Amino acid sequence: MTVSSLDLTVGSLTPRLLLGPGPSPVSPRVLRALAHPPLGHLDPQFLAVLDDVNERLRGVFGTTNDVTYAVSGTGSAGMQAALVNALEPGDTAIIGVNGYFGTRLVEMARRLGANVVQVEAEWGRIIEPERVIEAHGKHPGARVLALVQAETSTGAWQPLHEVGAHLRGSETLFVVDAVTALGGIPVEVDQVGADICYSATQKCIGTPPGLSPITYSPKAMRAIGQGRKTPVTSWYFDATVIGTYLGPERRYHHTVPINLFFALHEALREIDEEGLASRFERHGRMGALLREELGARGFTPFTETGRGLPQLTALRLPGDADEASLRSVLLNEHGIEVGGGLGPAKGKIWRVGLMGHGASEESVNRLVEAVDRMGMGRA
Ligand SMILES: *Cc1c(COP(=O)(O)O)cnc(C)c1O
Repeated sequence: MTVSSLDLTVGSLTPRLLLGPGPSPVSPRVLRALAHPPLGHLDPQFLAVLDDVNERLRGVFGTTNDVTYAVSGTGSAGMQAALVNALEPGDTAIIGVNGYFGTRLVEMARRLGANVVQVEAEWGRIIEPERVIEAHGKHPGARVLALVQAETSTGAWQPLHEVGAHLRGSETLFVVDAVTALGGIPVEVDQVGADICYSATQKCIGTPPGLSPITYSPKAMRAIGQGRKTPVTSWYFDATVIGTYLGPERRYHHTVPINLFFALHEALREIDEEGLASRFERHGRMGALLREELGARGFTPFTETGRGLPQLTALRLPGDADEASLRSVLLNEHGIEVGGGLGPAKGKIWRVGLMGHGASEESVNRLVEAVDRMGMGRA
């Protein structure tokens, strides 16, 4: 059956259960907030929402950083903001690469003129902290050291504390990609010693895509303010000029996506009501349940043992199944989206996300039922 483009409205689309690497399902409360009529970006009512969003983001990030807000744009906008503020041409950037998003960091840093030193590990494994520290020992003057906490392409949970402790007191800015981490596992920016940490709203936060929460430590703001020889080349992402809008001046910077902020505000209220500890515990429990259920059906972990993320599980399929065609049956006949592999994992794995509102027993049960009906695994 084909639908003419004239009939194609949002109402005619079939909803899906989003169990891929993002976007994740959005709760009814957040959806309602999204539908509120827009306010002006300088309306005192909206500014109150904005301030409250920033305060709640500090809580989720685990920071007291003054410069904490949501960049207008997806997670990649946060990545771009972090690097364009921190780096100048000729700077050295040490970047951990054990998956697709580490590779994206490398690409962005190179375009900014940085000399990139890669610390690589096999996809699916973590990068041993000693190796990262060793690389910094060889390049102590590096401007940036960047790691991806939750590598969504492989499901690996990268430890941060040892590297953060090593970098304290150095001139190097510790950049952390917490896009898939924030709201699903502890990020603890201040404890870890991250200087710039960014995320996105459509993974474990539970909002549609379009905003990228970010936070800058005082050390990062000094480096960006007086520490640079040249101005930040992106006016839009410059962390020092957005303050005119976020701070007491309240001057127009850009028209922020008002309705996405309504949604983010509601999602952060939900997070605070649940409590971070219970939220992490829920993600942990659901991830374990998923691994157990699919493990019993012959799926095997792709990620290094003991290093898997609860909110994103990468699994090899039983037998020599054609993952792409099974994934398309799962989507088109059972209404469930999961992700396929990227890079060296292409054609080999499913990536199952149980993020935010989607981290529920109902999600796991629906997926397991579909897998059984499709005759996969044990059958
Ligand atoms: C999704 C993701 C990004 C990119 O975010 P977009 O919202 O797709 O731009 C960056 N890093 C990681 C680890 C991600 O999972």
